[in-house]
Amino acid sequence: MPTPVNPLLSNQVLDEATQSLCPECRRVVDAQVLIRDGGVVMRKRCPEHGWHESLVSSDADWYLNSLRYDKPGAVPLDFATAVEEGCPFDCGLCPSHQQHTCVGLIEITTRCNLNCPICFADSGPAMSDPGYDLSLADVERILDRLLETEEHPEVVQISGGEPTIHPQILDILAAAKARNIRHVMLNTNGLRLADDPEFVHQLAPYKPLIYLQFDGLVDSTHQALRGRPLRAVKAQALDHLSEAGLNAILVPTVVHGVNDGEIGDILRFGLSHPAVAGINYQPVTFAGRGLNDHDPLNRITLPDVLQALEQQTDGLFQVSDFLPVPCPHPACSACTYAFIDGDEVIPIPRILNVDDYLDLIANRTSPDLSAELETGVESLWSMAAVMGSDETTDNLVCATCGIDVPMSLDPEHLKEHFFAIQVHGFMDEYTFDVKRLMKCCVHQLLPDGRAVPFCAYNNLGYREEVREAQSTAETSLFEPTEALP
Ligand code: SF4
Ligand code: SF4
Ligand code: SF4
Repeated sequence: MPTPVNPLLSNQVLDEATQSLCPECRRVVDAQVLIRDGGVVMRKRCPEHGWHESLVSSDADWYLNSLRYDKPGAVPLDFATAVEEGCPFDCGLCPSHQQHTCVGLIEITTRCNLNCPICFADSGPAMSDPGYDLSLADVERILDRLLETEEHPEVVQISGGEPTIHPQILDILAAAKARNIRHVMLNTNGLRLADDPEFVHQLAPYKPLIYLQFDGLVDSTHQALRGRPLRAVKAQALDHLSEAGLNAILVPTVVHGVNDGEIGDILRFGLSHPAVAGINYQPVTFAGRGLNDHDPLNRITLPDVLQALEQQTDGLFQVSDFLPVPCPHPACSACTYAFIDGDEVIPIPRILNVDDYLDLIANRTSPDLSAELETGVESLWSMAAVMGSDETTDNLVCATCGIDVPMSLDPEHLKEHFFAIQVHGFMDEYTFDVKRLMKCCVHQLLPDGRAVPFCAYNNLGYREEVREAQSTAETSLFEPTEALP
């Protein structure tokens, strides 16, 4: 049902005009970004389905302040599409796009061994079409195309569905590793990592950073979001990673009323587990299947996660420890890094004025600051920074060299003394903002050579288009797989 709106009753200020989607028919409609009651609300009207409003940010100050961190984009070496119908229908990338690929995602399968009620990829046994596996040749073509568009590709995430059940997953990781790509990541629900320690050891030579779905510490959370109690499974997966010398980033999807009370506990758990190099909290998006019964004006947004971190860790991390990531639109993401030594935690922005350097990176008008430090900070506050990698450790050392850190750091194990926290607020059809999309640097890499900004892929029918084409492709290896019990 469209939300009835009478703008005359609202106490609000127009921040900017943009374009969004009608959440009912997905047509592109004009939209206003409004500051109201301390938050940011998007309001739009579809000629067929009327007015809609949704919360974009619960904290207008955070949102407005983040805009000053907007960093000029860099174009890719090549574009795949022309500007014809206009954004967001020409992805991509088309020459109107404002940023190159920092993170390239490859959805190697639509199959999954879970059947999550909130799956935005519509994967697993409940998916609405036959699905597909990409062949190794498909993936190699995608990787080679990335090398044509990026001189030195930074991050490739092997994703799905559940990529670990792809029959050629090890060959795919080998193919990615064999190319000049800085970091290869594996996005997984962790079921196979828990069940198959031999597989984890087979992964080790490729050194992928594991991007592990990890929604909480109690089984009721997993039951609600994933349809199964997975607490022990996640712990087992992490222990196997630790034994194999691999690192993980925990990736909690945060849902209002389900696991928003576990934000601090997840952090404490992550800090205490040797395999965990960081956490990437993702406020839930209402894309794909499930969760359609929600109030778009009462949802978790990026600043809610930051405030919960401060409250639920008794100030171990504070909102002021986080800064926007400047390479995409700065409202999309925020992050911080910390030194850790046992129970002691020192967020880096408390000992280095990161703000000055990010200001310099965004505006190029700040006073004379160290160029070396600027490079270090720019590499860290980037979607392409991969916690647990040697490069990120080097950048952390570089960004903090000469600073007196009030704890004893073992130089032989520096990597273990750093921890990253990121919050990434993906857009859905309620919060979709074309201005944010045009600066997106997280791109789905398609078998036909296109790179589609991730929030466009999820909301505009690009995923469905690829699935239809792949399901009938001769290269498809697809064989139906039942969900594990
Ligand atoms: S999101 Fe980017 S690539 Fe897609 S149509 Fe808009 S400008 Fe072009
Ligand atoms: S594990 Fe991921 S891909 Fe699989 S059903 Fe759940 S959300 Fe979808
Ligand atoms: S994926 Fe979406 S939220 Fe993330 S950077 Fe791109 S547009 Fe922003």
